[in-house]
Amino acid sequence: MSEFASEWIDHDMIFTSFRAWRERLGRYRLEGSKCAGCGEIWFPRRHGVCPKCHSRDLAPYQCPHTGEVIEFIIKDNPFTDLSGTQYHGRGKRVIAIIRLDDGLHVAADLEDCSPADVHPGMRVKLSTRKWMRESNSNWQYGYKFTPAR
Ligand SMILES: [Zn+2]
Repeated sequence: MSEFASEWIDHDMIFTSFRAWRERLGRYRLEGSKCAGCGEIWFPRRHGVCPKCHSRDLAPYQCPHTGEVIEFIIKDNPFTDLSGTQYHGRGKRVIAIIRLDDGLHVAADLEDCSPADVHPGMRVKLSTRKWMRESNSNWQYGYKFTPAR
């Protein structure tokens, strides 16, 4: 933090706003793509060609917004990880592998729960939260998960 900003700003990784804009539907709503050729579902969405059957017929696919925790780790250092997702807030960060209700697996942060309460099989739902700063310093928002109550 500084005298100019009330929130922590760091620029150890740079992400362009152009790419963030193109991928917004996946980040906000978990929109992936489905191949008409082989029926495979992809998240994040694929552009152009299906990696499995090489079909060019890919359509948007809405992933379910609920699922269950398969495995998780608790991370307590505040630095950016390889996905570019930064740590915001106080306390420990819980990163989980979540199996969505259609069988897709997504790695995401869990929010609004104590690390001690997280367990495999826990039901979770989609929640859009702050992710990181973009190259123009705007906040980028994206998917995280919270306990489904
Ligand atoms: Zn395919």
